[in-house]
Amino acid sequence: SSLAMAILESMREPVTLTDKPVNVATSIGMAISTPDITAEKLIQQADMAMYWAKQNGRDNAKFYEPHMAEKVSGQFQFEQEIKEALDSHQMFLVYQPQVDSSSDRIFGLEALIRWQHPEKGLVSPAEFIPVAEESTLINKIGEFVIDSVLRRLSKWQQDKVDVVPVAVNISGRHLISEGFPQFIERTLRHYKVDGRWLKIEITEGVFIHDVHESIEIMSALKTLGVEISVDDFGTGYSSLHYLKMLPLDILKIDQSFVLESGDGAEGDKICEAIIQLAQNLDLQVIAEGVETELQAKVLNDLGCNLHQGFYYFRPESEETVGERLRQQSKRLA
Ligand code: C2E
Ligand code: MG
Ligand code: MG
Repeated sequence: SSLAMAILESMREPVTLTDKPVNVATSIGMAISTPDITAEKLIQQADMAMYWAKQNGRDNAKFYEPHMAEKVSGQFQFEQEIKEALDSHQMFLVYQPQVDSSSDRIFGLEALIRWQHPEKGLVSPAEFIPVAEESTLINKIGEFVIDSVLRRLSKWQQDKVDVVPVAVNISGRHLISEGFPQFIERTLRHYKVDGRWLKIEITEGVFIHDVHESIEIMSALKTLGVEISVDDFGTGYSSLHYLKMLPLDILKIDQSFVLESGDGAEGDKICEAIIQLAQNLDLQVIAEGVETELQAKVLNDLGCNLHQGFYYFRPESEETVGERLRQQSKRLA
């Protein structure tokens, strides 16, 4: 293990690639051989320990321990279950309306995934999305969501419903994976839906690691008319520099700040700062997790009229939301 430390230490030195210093993060996994173990098994164990080191923030070294195998096989089983759920229609979408408080108009929807498990009942995305994000399974989920949303939009348009843009949550890894904008383009064309009806929400993390790829892909999406939002804004560490470089359209204030807001609460100041930042960067700003009239009022007073939260609507079935859109066009006609 002192050898591992020495390797880590030397790998911390940046290397120079075409004049730019590049930092390499190293993760080391180690396993100790016992008389009964095969070479293959030993390497497998070291590999598992390496993944463990990676998950512990990289730049460290771990010895294999048996509990790692349990965790990995548990994860593997869960991944299999998620795959089967996608294939056997246990996954579906609900839609949460987003409201312009100045006119009470629904100006958009956010599509949120649900898993109706045959035994466990409704499984929260907070439970299975992080597992799916460990592998390319998250790409499958993203494709499922985009396909379902565009199919729904196309159906609504055939039924003469006045649709509003629908936002989907896409994992940063999926966004920068090979062929993502092409997939969007193909699917839009397949369902004959214009790109302006689709929005993509990304959480902050990915921008920092892969700024140049992000810029390229986001620009391709914008050419299709697809707008991009930063989800849970304020919880990550987006530098202002990157925010300015990226072709973004919307900041979504994270619900933790909104929930803490109201009557001079600490959250107010953060909301105010984010709203001003958005205005300065020429971005729209949507507040999520609005639960009370007071929160809505505080946000309005701060100049943010685009709200999403239980105070207005919960995530609802496509039938219910479709009916709301129908009622809204009658009301506005
Ligand atoms: P998110 O994208 O920030 O979605 C907003 C979450 O806040 C949703 O939870 C929504 O139901 C909830 N919410 C909305 N209004 C309120 C409110 O007033 N109060 C409170 N307490 N909560 C509110 P949900 O549907 O459980 O989703 C949780 C997270 O799971 C999402 O956060 C998103 O990160 C992820 N997720 C959901 N669907 C998908 C998906 O299709 N793909 C991916 N990659 N991630 C998804
Ligand atoms: Mg979201
Ligand atoms: Mg959010």
